[in-house]
Amino acid sequence: MWIDTHCHLDAGEFDTDRDAIIAHAFAAGVTGLVVPAVEVANFDAARAAARAMPGGAYALGIHPLYTPRAKDADIAALREAVAASINDPRFVGIGEIGLDFFVKDLDPERQAFFYIEQLKIARDFDLPVILHVRRSQDAILKQLRIYRPSSGIAHAFNGSHQQAEMLLSLGFKLGIGGAMTFERALQIRRLAADVPLDALVMETDAPDIAPAWLYKARNRPGELPRIAGELAKLRQIPIEQLAEATSANALSVLPRLATAMAQPCPAERLPGDALGASSASSSSADSLNPAASLAPHEDPSAH
Ligand SMILES: [Zn+2]
Repeated sequence: MWIDTHCHLDAGEFDTDRDAIIAHAFAAGVTGLVVPAVEVANFDAARAAARAMPGGAYALGIHPLYTPRAKDADIAALREAVAASINDPRFVGIGEIGLDFFVKDLDPERQAFFYIEQLKIARDFDLPVILHVRRSQDAILKQLRIYRPSSGIAHAFNGSHQQAEMLLSLGFKLGIGGAMTFERALQIRRLAADVPLDALVMETDAPDIAPAWLYKARNRPGELPRIAGELAKLRQIPIEQLAEATSANALSVLPRLATAMAQPCPAERLPGDALGASSASSSSADSLNPAASLAPHEDPSAH
């Protein structure tokens, strides 16, 4: 069992073949998947994408790269959406939120406003957060120490060992994905190999952060096991051990995820014999051919 803790399954890049992407991921053994929202306008799409995937879950939040077009009132809209979703078993937390000091022309004060206001919402509802941290590790940590969300994930983490340790001490796990598959990504590879196994969760960030073998192409959640295979090699541990540990880690920082993963999928959206396979081993999941059952019904206009 694999959990993709960060996948933008609602993205436009998947509009023409989302069902096939879901079927491919499920057949590859991805039985849990978290769709973080990026702005108020895509909350419904994130929710719908999560419901279309067996084991799908979603988070609600305003991404730092979307702050230029976000309005102050979006904070109130997020708070309302969270209150309305709190009994939804597929809803698991606040995200994707954070700070991006790499992308030029983003107002750091505006980003900080949205980051802090969303940390308050996470604290008020006792929800974990999914963090976007880019060249902003220290500023991220500073606010975490003040607002103390219960737990969360630092997605696509690329900081120092010391910053990683501080995040871990605050109840966070580090999201590892395609960036680690590049041999020249020395810092991420060293970190991913060195930190304790209970520090890590797996993610694809699909359609972004493609692994080395898909360089500059569209990433997809079904690549997760192969990405994890690279990490297992780096850490010199059996891949089964990595699957078990990273799944347990994800469930520990996203406490609502276990319930989300237990939700039945609407029968017409199930990729292949998903109900029967969900409790079976990955080898029987491999024998599924969900694409065959979906292909005849594929109708891109349905999305
Ligand atoms: Zn993301």
